[in-house]
Amino acid sequence: MQSKFKNEKEMSTALGNHILVEFMNCDPHIMNDVAAIERDMVDAAKKAEATVINSTFHHFSPYGVSGVVVIQESHLAIHTWPEYGYAAVDVFTCGEMNAWIAFDYLKESFQAKSYSAIEMKRGSVNLLTRNDFDISSMRQKANEWVNPGFYTRNVWFTDKDENQALSLRFTGDVFYDHQSPFQRVRILESYKYGKMLALDDMVMTTENDEFHYHEMISHPALFMHPNPKNVLVIGGGDGGTIREVLRHPGVEKVTMVEIDGAVIEACKEHLPNIAASFDDPKLTLLVDDGIAFAQQAAPGTYDVILVDGSDPVGPAEGLFSVSFYTNCYNALKEDGILVAQGESPKFNEKAFRELNHTLQDIFGVDKAPVSLFFVPTYPTGMWSFQYGLKGNIQGPIHQKEAEIEAFVSSNGLRYYNSALHNASFALPNFVKELIKK
Ligand code: SAM
Repeated sequence: MQSKFKNEKEMSTALGNHILVEFMNCDPHIMNDVAAIERDMVDAAKKAEATVINSTFHHFSPYGVSGVVVIQESHLAIHTWPEYGYAAVDVFTCGEMNAWIAFDYLKESFQAKSYSAIEMKRGSVNLLTRNDFDISSMRQKANEWVNPGFYTRNVWFTDKDENQALSLRFTGDVFYDHQSPFQRVRILESYKYGKMLALDDMVMTTENDEFHYHEMISHPALFMHPNPKNVLVIGGGDGGTIREVLRHPGVEKVTMVEIDGAVIEACKEHLPNIAASFDDPKLTLLVDDGIAFAQQAAPGTYDVILVDGSDPVGPAEGLFSVSFYTNCYNALKEDGILVAQGESPKFNEKAFRELNHTLQDIFGVDKAPVSLFFVPTYPTGMWSFQYGLKGNIQGPIHQKEAEIEAFVSSNGLRYYNSALHNASFALPNFVKELIKK
């Protein structure tokens, strides 16, 4: 594509050149892929021989991306509406750079089937008064700042609801990206928390804080139960929960029912420290729907059931239903413990409260305790596991300090300990109010 300005003279009467572009009928998936868009925008700048200073990109949940690439020659910016296959792009340049080269590259990258563009001069020098700056010292300083090879990438992954968000800066590198029949499975790398598993646009687990979650979903119940031998895990595709369960020598059999094989595959390959126990001989791994599995499960089979499911949307919606928890109750032995990923009293309050009321209805009003713990990479950081205690299970408070502390030190646990076990069931008043029936 050529510039409409005929000659250098016309160009030189303005400080900058601005192209405003409407890219239409683009691939909606590309329009929602922050990492791909950041990469293409940076490459477009480089193709036009610009010097990239930094890039800042944000992915909005449920969809849409905004970002800017700051270049020595000004900027390239974009806002996308994946639901319309539309991207508003602008390329502002000064100096020799031919912005239309970037335009052509982006048109291809976004698979835009149609577009419109206008080009305008910015900063007409006839209308401006020049201040006397000592250019040489300015240029000297600027060259010290700019290191052509290096630029900071600010690509943000945001997990949010309509009023609250958690954003993590990630490197832009995508190690795994697959749309499974159930959800979009991605492995990304964040600067602060290392590699992370995202399902659709929700953070599931990260290398640097996964132990908070996996130690607290498993150990309290396995110490609360007098003699846990047969454990069922529903979900838990990253493998962190079975890793912790299999630390308990008394556990003889673990059955894991994960609906999405792509999650297991992605985590085995890219999160091996979390997906560390899939080859354990005590494990029976089923890639199947946990809701259907609980329905067919033989009554009185399990000592402990751990529901390590994602948020109540998509495949996991049914993991918050009365029928599912009734089936789990029946699948537990006389004395059994159910633990469920319980959402947050400060994020998804409705799901949090309704789940506890369901467990109170099925297990008993004083048999559905809540344990609170912290996961920095979940929105609000305050998260819960909700329990169902069946039969004569005494709990949730334990009297096993010595046994627990010995287990904690011999396994090098980094979150769970005997004091925290009991403390996690001490609820703030607003939470007690929230779950009061
Ligand atoms: N820690 C995460 C959280 O709090 O959201 C959960 C992590 S774990 C990866 C959640 C797993 O539940 C996912 O792998 C997902 O595929 C699985 N899952 C969702 N619905 C399911 C179902 N109906 N049956 C079995 N697994 C399911």
